[in-house]
Amino acid sequence: MELDKTHITDFESELICEFFSAMQRQGPGSPEMTKKALGFLGFVDNLSQKKIADIGCGTGGQTMILAQNCLADITGIDIFPDFINIFNDNAKKQNLQDRVRGIVGSMDNLPFQKDEFDIIWSEGAIYNIGFERGLTEWRNYLKKEGFIAVTEASWFTVDRPVEIEEYWAYHYPAITTIANNVHTMQKCGFVPFATFTLPENCWIYNYFIPQIPVNESIVKKYSGNKTVERFVEANRYEYEMYKKYKEFFGYVFYIGRKI
Ligand code: SAH
Repeated sequence: MELDKTHITDFESELICEFFSAMQRQGPGSPEMTKKALGFLGFVDNLSQKKIADIGCGTGGQTMILAQNCLADITGIDIFPDFINIFNDNAKKQNLQDRVRGIVGSMDNLPFQKDEFDIIWSEGAIYNIGFERGLTEWRNYLKKEGFIAVTEASWFTVDRPVEIEEYWAYHYPAITTIANNVHTMQKCGFVPFATFTLPENCWIYNYFIPQIPVNESIVKKYSGNKTVERFVEANRYEYEMYKKYKEFFGYVFYIGRKI
């Protein structure tokens, strides 16, 4: 989900919440890839007594997968209260509320203690603060030898067609190559541990296809509203850009260990 918070109106913010609340995930990803990333951390004790923060957790799609696959205590944090309400309802439905809780807060001012967490997780959200700034600031909340696992939109190639360069220059000019992000991770005080690209299904089946009926229903509901029309148009264009240029960019999991 891309949003320019410097120019966002209340209605746009409500629209984004309404739209993305209707989906299990608010960014590209999948249960398989969350489990794969967790597998790299190689903990043998099921993470019981360990603490995970999931930053920019949204409604908690990936958080519940983490919780189903380990025994850690998990705090999800997101700026949108509506997402956190859904998150906590989901935790309760799955009877995970004793060790999974969602709180409202901002990733640039986290209400955590220094060295509090064993793992910091963040899928499809670090772009809101920037990859380097996120790694640098969030590192403070990690224990020594703790892990960070984040996904970030990245270039797969050094050269790209102009149309997709321009699309990203507008939406997220800081997008860079996998090699550059790995270098940044090292510079920020992490040993790069694992990096893998998310497969197409994370975008197509878990992100764009679930948007199709929601795009249709909000256009009907707010018939004639220009903001809604532009929003839906942007969602559809994002899908077109992905289909056309998916060999040049995608989401990548970056896992690092704090030194
Ligand atoms: N991790 C989820 C959501 C990704 S979408 C998933 O992968 O499905 C990005 C999320 O970041 C949204 O839920 C958005 O509300 C949240 N977000 C944006 N800016 C934020 C900020 N400053 N602090 C905390 N969360 C933020």
